[in-house]
Amino acid sequence: MDYISTRGGMSPQRFCDILLMGLAPDGGLVMPTHYPRVDRDQLAAWRGLSYPALAFEIVRLFADDIPADELRDIVERTYRAEVFGSAEIAPLTRLEDGLFVEQLSNGPTLAFKDMAMQLLGHLFEYVLVKRGQQLNILGATSGDTGSAAEHAMRGRANIRVFMLSPHGKMSAFQRAQMFSLPDENIHNLAIEGMFDDCQDIVKAVSSDAEFKAKHAIGTVNSINWARVVAQVVYYFHGYFAASDSNDQKVSFCVPSGNFGNVCAGHIARQMGLPIDRLIVATNENDVLDEFFRTGRYRPRTGAETRVTSSPSMDISKASNFERFIFDLVGRNPVALSELWRGVDKGTGFDLSALEGDMMFAEVSRRYGFVSGRSTHADRLATIRQVAAETPARVLDPHTADGVKVARELRRPSEIVVCLETALPAKFAETLREALAQDPPRPAGFEGLEDLPQRFTVLPADVSAVKQVIEAHT
Ligand SMILES: *Cc1c(COP(=O)(O)O)cnc(C)c1O
Repeated sequence: MDYISTRGGMSPQRFCDILLMGLAPDGGLVMPTHYPRVDRDQLAAWRGLSYPALAFEIVRLFADDIPADELRDIVERTYRAEVFGSAEIAPLTRLEDGLFVEQLSNGPTLAFKDMAMQLLGHLFEYVLVKRGQQLNILGATSGDTGSAAEHAMRGRANIRVFMLSPHGKMSAFQRAQMFSLPDENIHNLAIEGMFDDCQDIVKAVSSDAEFKAKHAIGTVNSINWARVVAQVVYYFHGYFAASDSNDQKVSFCVPSGNFGNVCAGHIARQMGLPIDRLIVATNENDVLDEFFRTGRYRPRTGAETRVTSSPSMDISKASNFERFIFDLVGRNPVALSELWRGVDKGTGFDLSALEGDMMFAEVSRRYGFVSGRSTHADRLATIRQVAAETPARVLDPHTADGVKVARELRRPSEIVVCLETALPAKFAETLREALAQDPPRPAGFEGLEDLPQRFTVLPADVSAVKQVIEAHT
């Protein structure tokens, strides 16, 4: 499989070459030259496979430059019951007739990001060891991504992590998840500022080409292609679990922010998985809902971006969206680059005026996309309803946004799988507001906040961060 850029300026490369890449050199996103098609015989053979066996079959279609026996070993070491809580890895539970929740949050940091990040940790180590290279991962986090990355990279040969977070702004649980890691290769830098300051520092360091090359700086952000591929697997897994035969269709509802999760659903559908609809659920930051309803993509400014009780969906623009639009414009890099000139200017673009078979409603129907939106009041009400109906089911605020939208848009007899993106233990404050009690805490997380913590407080200053990296590399 060869990879190209959405902007057309990258000569074809293989999976191991693009694995450590953030943006493509021309500023675009990395895409495979085509989607492998899965036929009916293959679907029949895959139904009933264990999660790691299924993951091997899917990932190897995209990573055919890794020898099969080595890839199988990597995937089997990643998707283990000890890491993801059960041999099923991503069990499906029934919420009500026709509505299921696929549990993706039983990994080490209790969010779906572990599903991909754990594989990324193994893949990075494999390529770095093979090439005798080092990698210093620099990232900014407001919570879920940073802890998933640290837990995936901890203790790995040839990898160090420098994770910036806004000092005093994360929840006590999230802070403890990151700062209590004892591993020498993990460096938590608590920045005296906001999340945007952290992100600006990461951008400034990454755009210093000399420093970046000298210190082998890399990232693990949501545009990494391998993360998207790893996520494709659980759409197949969820499809098989929710359907009785491969003649049935299943829809997925996805609580969305940067469009990484649902982008994997789009790819699964393009590969031939019988997905009916892809339901995009947003919170009050509804840039994606607006697009799928109107055809207008209008990225928000920082000031227009609301801080909500489903914080991992608080985005101003959706960084993975460019991948879907690339397909939508017929994989034409010139047309895509033209649209993204509008995005970079802050005005966005408008597809509502397209005519004929390119008419927006027609195009989004062809790709199966629909969308809905959920607010603070909606998510509290949904958490309460579900807990009242099934006391053992406590939703986190993000999954609640998904369930709210899934119930609203589900058609009679449609099977909808809502992806669970986190466990409620991570968001105790909102859960107390909804249920007047603390959320359940999975075994092994008792007393997490009492463990000793390791972190360095730094001013919001690029050179201070560079000094820490220099001192440790
Ligand atoms: C990252 C995240 C999301 C959003 O996923 P995208 O891939 O950015 O669309 C939703 N919920 C939770 C809990 C997350 O951590």
